[in-house]
Amino acid sequence: MKHSVDKIFWQNTEQIAELLNGTPRTIAILSHVNPDGDTLGSSLGMLGVFNKLGHRCHIISPNDYPEFLKWMPGTEFITILKHSHSEALKILSSAEMIFAVDFNEIKRFRDLKDTFESSSAFKVLIDHHPGPVMKVNSLLSDPTASSTAELVYRLLVETGYRHLIDKDIATCLFTGIMTDTGCFSYNSSNRKTWETVAELLDFGIDKDEIYSFTYDNYSEHRMRLLGFSLNDRMEVFQEFRTGFIALSKEDMDRYHFEVGDSEGFVNYPLSIKGIQFSALFLEKEDHVKISFRSKGSFPVNEFARDNFHGGGHKNASGGEDFTSLSDSLKHFKELLPLYKDKLCMNEE
Ligand code: 5GP
Ligand code: MN
Repeated sequence: MKHSVDKIFWQNTEQIAELLNGTPRTIAILSHVNPDGDTLGSSLGMLGVFNKLGHRCHIISPNDYPEFLKWMPGTEFITILKHSHSEALKILSSAEMIFAVDFNEIKRFRDLKDTFESSSAFKVLIDHHPGPVMKVNSLLSDPTASSTAELVYRLLVETGYRHLIDKDIATCLFTGIMTDTGCFSYNSSNRKTWETVAELLDFGIDKDEIYSFTYDNYSEHRMRLLGFSLNDRMEVFQEFRTGFIALSKEDMDRYHFEVGDSEGFVNYPLSIKGIQFSALFLEKEDHVKISFRSKGSFPVNEFARDNFHGGGHKNASGGEDFTSLSDSLKHFKELLPLYKDKLCMNEE
């Protein structure tokens, strides 16, 4: 299995164009589990263009997407596997083309893995995570890209569909780039990203409105949970330049937790002077879900892969632990001294 390989693949786009230019087809677009703005924005952007081309196109999401993304144009075309299992299965098994969007391991697609693997559809993987490990007909993978949405824009231009992009489609793609770069605070030092944004602005998108729809749209419970998390559930280890937040099921119940409510929490410890590495632990039904973020050289994808069955990008990754919340925190704290050298590199 390949992992932290920053290799770019851009295969068979002519074949994609050929298929899309032909007779109307059934197309399934797969977003990743716990969908974020990038997987949804990318999927909805593609769906908008494919619908205009006359194809029958559906998006399948493994589970619910956050409330703060419900405003995005086209969400009525999303089928949630968790709630409509047989319908999602039907869409996937009858698809003639399948686009996997913003993930690089089909394991992250849970239940539909077997159907995906045995399908004879033309499969495309479009993603910006390093080290793709999926068998597809067309691999479009560029870990230097800010987001998958940036790659979708590149694909649409290259396949000759720029003229089909409209304000709604551009809005979806911009949302993907905006959310995956933390509003251009990371993963966005490449001029290609800004060129893409400049071109998306030409379609008449209202960037301030998109920001506001996405970030000024939280419930009161979410804001209070954030306050509680920072006050009562954050631990900081200056000696390891590390901070984390851990929320139990009980904590989340107390604040009426809904999907997406903890979005962005993992970044807060990084706002503390000197902190380079942060983590968010969420206690789920049968496991602990962990998000990792870093600033600078500390590779959180390797940390997640080596210790918490996970992966992701160098500065943003995630993983899982199948012990209890307290045991996974204990494990995490025990690991910190082992990583001290890497965590404290470049210390003034
Ligand atoms: P988040 O913390 O927002 O859930 O995820 C951050 C990044 O880490 C995402 O780009 C995602 O692909 C990756 N990631 C999150 N959880 C997992 C996981 O369980 N396994 C792997 N391989 N990657 C993950
Ligand atoms: Mn992404």
